[in-house]
Amino acid sequence: MTIKSRWEVDIPRCSLQQWIFGSATGPVPNHKAFLDPEAPETNYLTMGDYRLLSKRVALGLLKLGLQPGERVLVFSGNSIFYPSVFLGVLAAGGIFTGANPGFVARELAYQLRDSDARFLFVAEAALPTALEAAKEVGLSHDNIFILGGKVGPASELTNTSNPQPASQGRVSGIRHWTELIAGNLSQAQKWSWTEPADPENTTCCLNYSSGTTGVPKGVEISHYAYVSNGTGVEFTDNLDPEVETKRLRRRALAFLPMYHAYGQTYFVANFPRILTPVYVMPSFDYIKMLEYIQKYRITTLSCVPPIVVLLTKHPLTKNYDLSSIEQIGSGAAPLSIEVTEECQKLLPGNVSLKQGWGMTEVTCTAMSWDPKYKGTSAGVGEMMPNCAAKIMSLDGKTEILEAQERGELWITGPTLLRSYWNKPQATAETMHIDPDGTRWLKTGDIAFVDEYKPGGIFHVVDRIKELIKVKGNQVAPAELEGILLDFKEVADAAVVGVTIDGEEVPRAYVVKKDGSSVTEEDVAKWMAGQVAKYKQLRGGVKFVGEIPKNPSGKILRKILREAAKAEVGDK
Ligand code: AMP
Repeated sequence: MTIKSRWEVDIPRCSLQQWIFGSATGPVPNHKAFLDPEAPETNYLTMGDYRLLSKRVALGLLKLGLQPGERVLVFSGNSIFYPSVFLGVLAAGGIFTGANPGFVARELAYQLRDSDARFLFVAEAALPTALEAAKEVGLSHDNIFILGGKVGPASELTNTSNPQPASQGRVSGIRHWTELIAGNLSQAQKWSWTEPADPENTTCCLNYSSGTTGVPKGVEISHYAYVSNGTGVEFTDNLDPEVETKRLRRRALAFLPMYHAYGQTYFVANFPRILTPVYVMPSFDYIKMLEYIQKYRITTLSCVPPIVVLLTKHPLTKNYDLSSIEQIGSGAAPLSIEVTEECQKLLPGNVSLKQGWGMTEVTCTAMSWDPKYKGTSAGVGEMMPNCAAKIMSLDGKTEILEAQERGELWITGPTLLRSYWNKPQATAETMHIDPDGTRWLKTGDIAFVDEYKPGGIFHVVDRIKELIKVKGNQVAPAELEGILLDFKEVADAAVVGVTIDGEEVPRAYVVKKDGSSVTEEDVAKWMAGQVAKYKQLRGGVKFVGEIPKNPSGKILRKILREAAKAEVGDK
């Protein structure tokens, strides 16, 4: 039986940028949308600036010949300008894709090649990595722009009296993004983007996810799916009887990355739309986070579980005045009830700490809480508007109809991915299509519902997919296994997640080649040079005689996960 949402809401059929700004040229509320917490008086963008800069980026890209549906990759930490590049790409009719700024060249080259990105925006600090990756894939330096740097007061980019922003110097011959938009301010003021004729079938971004199996893939999210996601999030926020007064004082702090759907949903789309100022941190830094919460009276935190753990257990937390916080959301990985209760106890009684459930393949959030619900729960909330779920037996053949009984979570609704970019087989394996055409996403998560009724609360209790989550970041075992197999001393390998001190980390089982004298440390060290920090084998490396596999050669991960748990994991 399908568990539907309690709510059906109208979804506007428009582009994501139209949903956020209301229009391309009409009046917009002129509140401060993005502020640099290190210089909020001078370095900020109003909502009007946000739209204008987005249009300037769009015009710059169109002038360089960006074609509808072409991809633009952003390789940068957060900045107040990141959202304008995101929406600028969309306004030009392109497709945004963002990469983790911690990637090494090999990882960036993979995403550049897989998405076949035509343009690359890169933070100055990441330029050497970007140039190495660009060389590998043959991306011309003319198609690369440095984002950020010493841009100075935001007004230089948006002030009509100064339509030629002082262009920043080139680094290694690479143009600063101010060159892309130079001279197009007055044109941008009058310019309107072209709305997609079919928002349901027009992709706006490729967010990378390994899904239930294999290597990272571009998840094609349509404008309609993104607008549905945002509309649902806004609808549930509006269920709070005090929403209007709360919004007047609401301030958010963006430390979650904008290359991920979670950061995008709140910081690029929903908060600016509902007039919530967003203080933008380039990356996560716990002490800075505490300082900014205190200094700017931040009310709303979008977190991943390790940050809730820090709030609860870090000895310095108590040195800061965090009394402004009213709402903490957690997602991207499981948050234990013990930590939830402990954190809730440290917070004033009216603060709400809730975890939701989301997945890149459903744009972002599929389960969340009615703000009227008070109290703590191990659950992840109820279905978001217009979405529905069912719990299936692991062979995918039988629906589970008993409350509290576990099975694989399947989701349907307007926020579902269109497909994996250029991977029809992976798409077909992840989707189930009913005879009436209803598309279901097989999430690879194990869940149960407390009651079979609209509004039933879901609990996500395990994962059957390969995916490992390190501090909320995706780590695809297939990617690490491929790298291990490239190591000439390695005959076979498998990687699984193991929880150590409450944190999931990757652990490798390796069969070394006959006669090899390589050590387990050598393998871990070698891997460290090949991947971003969070993918390193912090769960250790273990040499084994063989990797357990079924007759068709599929790795029996369950056996390895159990072995890992017994060897090093939390009991
Ligand atoms: P991503 O696509 O990176 O957002 O990762 C999605 C996956 O993160 C889900 O399929 C789950 O495995 C995991 N996840 C997200 N939120 C939760 C949650 N509240 N509890 C447990 N797992 C979660």
